Amino acid sequence: MSKHVLVIGAGFAGLSAATSLAQRGYQVTVLEKNEGPGGRARVFRAEGFTFDMGPSWYWMPDVFEQYFARFGHQVADFYDLVRLDPSYAVIFGDEDILDIPAGMPELRAMFEHLEPGSAVRLDEFLRQAAYKYEVGINKFVHMPGRSLLEFADPRLLVDAVRLDVLQSMSKHVRRFFKHEKLLKLMEFPVLFLGATPENTPALYSLMNYADLALGTWYPRGGMHKIVEGMVKVAEQQGVKLEYNQEVQEIRVENGLATGVQTATGFRPADIVVAGADYHHAEQQLLAPQHRHYDEKYWDSRTMAPSSLLFYLGINKRLKNLRHHNLFFDEDFGRHAQEIYEQPQWPSKPLFYASVPSQTDPTVAPEGCENLFLLVPVAPDLADPEETRERYYHLVMDRLERLTGQSIRDAVVYKRSYAHRDFVADYHSYKGNAYGLANTLKQTAILKPTLKSKKVSNLYFTGQLTVPGPGVPPSLISGQVVAREVEKENKLSFNN
Ligand SMILES: Cc1cc2nc3c(=O)[nH]c(=O)nc-3n(C[C@H](O)[C@H](O)[C@H](O)COP(=O)(O)OP(=O)(O)OC[C@H]3O[C@@H](n4cnc5c(N)ncnc54)[C@H](O)[C@@H]3O)c2cc1C
Repeated sequence: MSKHVLVIGAGFAGLSAATSLAQRGYQVTVLEKNEGPGGRARVFRAEGFTFDMGPSWYWMPDVFEQYFARFGHQVADFYDLVRLDPSYAVIFGDEDILDIPAGMPELRAMFEHLEPGSAVRLDEFLRQAAYKYEVGINKFVHMPGRSLLEFADPRLLVDAVRLDVLQSMSKHVRRFFKHEKLLKLMEFPVLFLGATPENTPALYSLMNYADLALGTWYPRGGMHKIVEGMVKVAEQQGVKLEYNQEVQEIRVENGLATGVQTATGFRPADIVVAGADYHHAEQQLLAPQHRHYDEKYWDSRTMAPSSLLFYLGINKRLKNLRHHNLFFDEDFGRHAQEIYEQPQWPSKPLFYASVPSQTDPTVAPEGCENLFLLVPVAPDLADPEETRERYYHLVMDRLERLTGQSIRDAVVYKRSYAHRDFVADYHSYKGNAYGLANTLKQTAILKPTLKSKKVSNLYFTGQLTVPGPGVPPSLISGQVVAREVEKENKLSFNN
């Protein structure tokens, strides 16, 4: 008889783990506390608008293609993917906007215009980054990170040197470019990893390759289309998904998880995979004697930032905005300090505005615009309504000034979202948005381990363990954990 796996959480990692295990012959049930799938990538609809709640950047299309291919599908079976051109816009100040072109000749010309001689250096930068992407995404991120021995292969050690694991992203970028705008452009993608360029290994210039060479894409209908595709594949593989099923406890006897407790009763299992936030699963669902880490350990981790979000329905079309807009008109150094070193509400934050209705008319009523605002902020801050409102006006003042139009008076729908919502909706530790930061001290075997050291049939997956935050890594995390479960349970290993 096949073993029964209970997966906690229907985010990208939980869905990916569940589907990969079902394909290998396990009987899999996913228990999700919310009323639908997707976790941080859920969707909601209001007043004719369709809002993606979390991720909006579709990067690394090859990872999604490979994911669906494992189950005999292609991305096109589930959604229509369009490449954005320009990929995004960076707003440096009044009438100082840089469109980042999708085409390489146009991109090289833009570099050359800003800093003569930089186009050739961009070629070299991207050549190195392509190598890092190839090794990083095809090899390193698939490692379970449970032992240094995984890295003992001499070819990997050679790779580790070429991969720039020890140099910071900030130094690496400055070896190639000098112009302030190019530095900001090249450092921006590591912000997705939840840490500053100074604290991020240069290995992650693979993100520049993802950004500038592989491009920014958009699934028509919204990012939730990925989740819908994943749910279809999960069901085809026989995964049972149950919503409104919050797990309250992981039961353990003699070092083995026997199942989980929910409001509707005890659910027995042979194996438990926790796809909920690691801290919650370990510190709140397990009794103290079964935890490998303690609160002191968690408190000493560098969490990725939280976010203050606004989902806005606008009853007119907006000008001077692209699908993705990065407002880098203030000092990033100061904002970063107020996130990481002296955590507090930022004095002059950078922010991001997404307007998917610029590409996709289905996400807003005709003649209207779907506007999503994101301000990265330190985790673990109090977020009362007055504070949210203060930042709404601070951001709107800049948005209206920099794009030369009134926006507030056209808002017909408004919803804010921050720390306490992340905690209530996802049991997020300190209200983090993107999990654990990918700093050097929190990479690979230095991340919270994907297999419990105290409960032998309990595994963890998702953005707080390997390989890290972001949609593609969370997807991969589920595949990595499924492989580990299989290795240790030897049902039908067919990697
Ligand atoms: C605002 C925002 C913007 C982002 N932008 C991008 C982007 O543009 N591109 C990108 O690649 N990534 C982006 N990310 C990051 C990306 O969304 C996440 O890394 C990824 O979705 C995490 O997936 P996960 O499966 O690890 O966690 P989650 O999505 O949080 O899934 C965990 C699931 O577990 C459930 N759960 C928790 N506790 C329990 C319990 N006790 N019982 C049952 N279920 C439980 C939760 O409800 C949730 O559904 C963004 C994230 C946010 C928040």
